[in-house]
Amino acid sequence: MTLIKSISGFRGTIGGAEGDNLTPADIVKFTSGYARWLGAGRRKVVVGRDARPSGGMVDALVQGTLMGCGVDVVDVGLCTTPGVEMAVVAHGADGGIIITASHNPVNWNALKLLDARGEFLSAADGQRVLELSEDDAFDYPQVAELGRVVLREPFDEQHIDAVLALPLVDVEAVRARGFKVVLDAVNSVGGVVMPRLLERMGVEVVCVNCEPTGQFAHNPEPLPENLRELSERVVSGGADLGLAVDPDVDRLALVCEDGSMFGEEYTLVAVADYVLSQSAGAAVSNLSSTRALRDVALARGGSYTAAAVGEVNVVAEMKRTGALIGGEGNGGVIYPALHYGRDALVGTALILTWLARKDLKASELRDSYPKYYMVKDKMTVADPGPILERVAAKFAGECVDLRDGVKIDFADGWVHLRRSNTEPIVRIYAEASSPEAVRELAAKVVE
Ligand code: MG
Repeated sequence: MTLIKSISGFRGTIGGAEGDNLTPADIVKFTSGYARWLGAGRRKVVVGRDARPSGGMVDALVQGTLMGCGVDVVDVGLCTTPGVEMAVVAHGADGGIIITASHNPVNWNALKLLDARGEFLSAADGQRVLELSEDDAFDYPQVAELGRVVLREPFDEQHIDAVLALPLVDVEAVRARGFKVVLDAVNSVGGVVMPRLLERMGVEVVCVNCEPTGQFAHNPEPLPENLRELSERVVSGGADLGLAVDPDVDRLALVCEDGSMFGEEYTLVAVADYVLSQSAGAAVSNLSSTRALRDVALARGGSYTAAAVGEVNVVAEMKRTGALIGGEGNGGVIYPALHYGRDALVGTALILTWLARKDLKASELRDSYPKYYMVKDKMTVADPGPILERVAAKFAGECVDLRDGVKIDFADGWVHLRRSNTEPIVRIYAEASSPEAVRELAAKVVE
């Protein structure tokens, strides 16, 4: 079926032939490559996984291979992506491996690789791991040098402690508001950690799909079409808010008290509005995220810049600008006061604080922000290169950004075309202030 080897990790389908899927042999090969990238000497790596059914199998192979390469293991078990990232730093480890295929279907899994800062590998480091994975000339260590599991302990409570200790998280204000929240954790690790976080903030939680069985109750991507049950439960239960997280809990989508979508793009907008209301500073998102973030940042006396798509690019731009807040329009909130990684727990705590302090309903908060409409489309083309060049040339008189495909900023909206890394398609994103305007804008560029 599929095996995607990229600088950001290894992703594929379980079962089938070696080299075409994420088979046990491939897992051993990639983990060996990562272990060698860590370098000589005694090394320690944090390993955690989401709840998908193949997780236990992949986990056992990853941990066994690391030990066979002389690397000690800290096993945090079922854990969120942001939790593993923070555990790397908390345990003074040299790196981390997160076993999760994020929002991909149940038959997928992946190894996401972290450095000693608990951040995703740079392109150069990722490339080096790829090369080492393909290089068979490796002497595995002798018996005296084998690694071992030095700690087996979950990290959720420490993660929650760190979130609640943030100065901008106001537990008392949230507790006083007496929120009722419906949580859809799509039967993965969010079902374990998110209710704990909410309970510790004095929130009444109604759990939907919170058993960490890995049997996703619906398509696990937190998009509106997959959140119908959540929306209904919010309305029927008279709740203040619905929360949806993806299987590894780095994306957060909100449902308003009336069952309408807060909009995945607006999770980051609302959090940034709160953070920048406390002190003005820089905000960062990627080129395909809503312009509302720029509007909100400027209105708060801050600044805004965009990075190429990809968490590692957003983090690099955030460090360059000293951003106070950043992330991706897909519900990924990065709050560097906690760590440089998308984190639905910190997003939830900051949103609840903001709603409590503003004393607004979720729909009222959403409606207070600039309203934009986005379309996400794709076009099948064998060779996207010439098309992107022609579009760039045609709109050369406009504000054109060529860092990641072609993004054209018009006065009243934008269009972003980028090639897929994995399929012969061009992705087309467009945004404008009305549904008609955005369709017109997209059509103008596509033509
Ligand atoms: Mg994810």
